[in-house]
Amino acid sequence: MNVKLFIFVVIVLAQLAVLYAADTPVQKPNILVILADDLGYADVGFNGCRDIPTPNLDQLARQGVRCTSGYVTHPFCSPTRAGLLTGLYQQRFGHENNPAWLPQSTVAGLPLSQTTLPQVLKRAGYVTGCVGKWHLGAHPQFHPNRRGFDEYFGLLGGGHVYTPGARGSVEYQIPMDRNGRPEPLAEYLTTVLGREGSSFITRHKGEPWFLYLAFNAPHTPLQVADPLMGRVKHITDQTRRGYAGLIVGLDDAVGVVMDALKESGQVDNTLVFFLSDNGGPIGVTHSDNTPLRGAKGDVFEGGIRVPFVVSWPGRLPQRKDYAQPVISLDVFASAVALAGANVPAGHTLEGKNIVPYLAGEQTGIPHGRLFWRAGGGAKFAVREGDWKLVGWENSRTQLFNLAADVGESKDLAAARPEVLARLSQAYADWDKDNVAPLFESPQASRPKAVKKAPAK
Ligand code: CA
Repeated sequence: MNVKLFIFVVIVLAQLAVLYAADTPVQKPNILVILADDLGYADVGFNGCRDIPTPNLDQLARQGVRCTSGYVTHPFCSPTRAGLLTGLYQQRFGHENNPAWLPQSTVAGLPLSQTTLPQVLKRAGYVTGCVGKWHLGAHPQFHPNRRGFDEYFGLLGGGHVYTPGARGSVEYQIPMDRNGRPEPLAEYLTTVLGREGSSFITRHKGEPWFLYLAFNAPHTPLQVADPLMGRVKHITDQTRRGYAGLIVGLDDAVGVVMDALKESGQVDNTLVFFLSDNGGPIGVTHSDNTPLRGAKGDVFEGGIRVPFVVSWPGRLPQRKDYAQPVISLDVFASAVALAGANVPAGHTLEGKNIVPYLAGEQTGIPHGRLFWRAGGGAKFAVREGDWKLVGWENSRTQLFNLAADVGESKDLAAARPEVLARLSQAYADWDKDNVAPLFESPQASRPKAVKKAPAK
């Protein structure tokens, strides 16, 4: 080969290499969000639970980062889901209550003005699936297939019976919905949802996908399949035993889903979030939010701080704890960043891409302040660093230092008036951008009347 020809060949090869590199996109991770329903902070092994076996959830936590201050944006079901799927505090658009089961109502549901995470990811080339509890409106205009999901299977309301043929309210015994078509519930519900999630994961191997897998377990009714009951028979409290049975079913289903990831070779390229939509309703299911104060419906930690794991073996460390506050809004922001997706103009992300923080690549903290508001302002809270402000309409506002008092037992409002004033002002400023609730919760699902501040 003469010198000129050799140089020519080298140049061509170099150009081909550049072209190849430009045409080979960075592989986009799959995104799997597994949501539990009413799962207490301390009711999983990875958060210290001793009486309910959750080996699959514990394994998921071991192969990722356990966020010990992982929050949701609301102390009950539907508003948290509205925040998670829009990446916005749901009070910005009035989704502050549970929508009633009203198939004729074009109001009671996630407003069509809002852009959802699956809509954004679809534009970035993702196939999108939703399996499980929807609870974002019963009118056909709110159906998951019309809100960004290519595929849907599940229960459209706020809950459902678990056992085929069991009796419940209308909402709880409607047929399953598969892409707009009714389908009878043929088997134990949690088992079915696990299998449907697993099927989605396997079928879409080879393309980037987003799966929102929202179990209704361990929300009431406490209907447990017999084989599951045998695994919690050591629990003497009958109510907690039923609740535990629902969690064991959930854990089994998560195991099926994780097996599907493993068997299809997608573990390293899938970012998994596992969290609950709110804290445990202690009085109803005898769930356990230890060491946190309060329960579902409260803006004390027990209502809003939840079991929260982020796992991505290809990118994140394993067996790691992360103590800085993170929130369900971060699911949207993280997913959009990793997918290289664009949000519509005017859509201000209120969460953060937390992956660089969890990976230890980015120092500092994701959130300076986090906010909560329920009942149109009847209850509210702010977290700033270790400080937590908890307020009620027309009542005295309290202040806690979570580093010293995670159980929110010692009110420091009088001792630290400057912090009280700063956080109160921060809440007022944040609240200026909120609107009044668009619809009210149905009576049955309404959390108990506004809780009075504890004795002063
Ligand atoms: Ca819930």
